[in-house]
Amino acid sequence: MYILECSDGSYYTGSTKDLDQRMEQHQSGEGANHTRKRLPVKLVYYETFSRIDEAFYREKLIQKWSRKKKIALINRQFGELKQLAECQNDSHFRNAALDSAALDSARAAGDVDNDAGFDSAQPASTVDHEHNLSSLSEVEMSEVEMRDLSNLPKIELHLHLDCSLSYQVVKQLRPEITEAEYRQSFVGPPKCTDLKDFLTRARAGIEVMQTEAALRLVTLDLFEQLQADGVIYAEIRFAPLLHTEKGLTPEAVVAAINDATAEGIARTGVQAGLILCTLRSYSEEQSMQTVHLVEQFAGTHVVGFDIAGDEAGFPIDAHIKAFQYARSRHIPCTAHAGEACGAKSVWDTLEYFQPSRIGHGVRSVEDPELMDYLKARQIHLEICPASNVQTNIYDQLKDHRLPEIYRSGISMSINTDARTITDVTLTEEYQHLHTIFHWQKEELLHCNMEAISHAFATEEVKADLRLRLLAAWQ
Ligand SMILES: [Zn+2]
Repeated sequence: MYILECSDGSYYTGSTKDLDQRMEQHQSGEGANHTRKRLPVKLVYYETFSRIDEAFYREKLIQKWSRKKKIALINRQFGELKQLAECQNDSHFRNAALDSAALDSARAAGDVDNDAGFDSAQPASTVDHEHNLSSLSEVEMSEVEMRDLSNLPKIELHLHLDCSLSYQVVKQLRPEITEAEYRQSFVGPPKCTDLKDFLTRARAGIEVMQTEAALRLVTLDLFEQLQADGVIYAEIRFAPLLHTEKGLTPEAVVAAINDATAEGIARTGVQAGLILCTLRSYSEEQSMQTVHLVEQFAGTHVVGFDIAGDEAGFPIDAHIKAFQYARSRHIPCTAHAGEACGAKSVWDTLEYFQPSRIGHGVRSVEDPELMDYLKARQIHLEICPASNVQTNIYDQLKDHRLPEIYRSGISMSINTDARTITDVTLTEEYQHLHTIFHWQKEELLHCNMEAISHAFATEEVKADLRLRLLAAWQ
């Protein structure tokens, strides 16, 4: 058995007989691994026991030990293997003893069943495994705990009402629509050209959300989606002025969604707040009108103010006054920035809007000084991984720099942004982070706790949410 470590952090294993061929394939970018373009690999483990194949490994290490100890031990084992490879700085080395040493130390610590060591009882494997071996340490998480992620309580701070209409609710509002037509009009393609292209997809939702009855149905529909996703607290945002095309006043729009929110909370038990958005394309007057609505609905489910829309196409000047007003009235604020535009848009937003949270903000990672600032000021980033890939900030999720943001200690949460346009649930976002970045419960729980700390909710609500999260996740 061998283990190859790819420069992207993944591992590959196979039987020893084809090692040379596999090394060549990896280094030339050819063969079964052709999708990886010439990624450097190094041999981190070479095991002479050809009978020990991955299935055997899995059986002995995964099925027999208690879960936490298994994961700890396997992680330790792989960590040692990697360290040893680095020390030796040798692409080919033999270390058949290492597994035994790790097992021995684990046995001494009482971590391992006595019969869990390597023996030769397993038939020799002739099968080549093209596995990502790093997932071995998370197998248990994948198959048991991660499978149940949808049931674990979650917090979501960044979620647009008009981008999150299920087929069922659209069918109620437009009975003639087929599922294919719904997918065509309401769901975005896996890749949009940019944020502007992405935003054109919200149009279909806004068109059907022009009456009080429709606003109620769409809001209740979202509560059902949140409940199914295990979300226990959500901050739902929308731009009231977008829903006045058929004569509703902005006040009537907010009242309808606020009333439906109360109904949704009562029906599902999902707690929620509403954030009213102005748009980048709006005038100073429209932004002021929106922030006045937040003030007018103080004490209801309306909890905050946001600016959304095409960041690249419109400067911030027209909205400075509204954010100044919000601050003067102690209205909690968040603001979209650092999505379509780079770190400068985050700096500008912080300087002129002074929000306590940034919607996305992921491109802050391009400026170390900004990262330090965000951390020092405890500005929270509402990160929406799948949305960022769809709007082409990153080619693939594996290119997303959220692990760097997480490691930097900046407060951040994971959110869907647009459940329909991006065609994603929060559970799926978590699963993707587990698969791609090997995130475990620890990281996910931490992000949820940070979301609570920065939620626009009362301390009483936050305390209750914390208790519920900790009780379920630990
Ligand atoms: Zn957004």
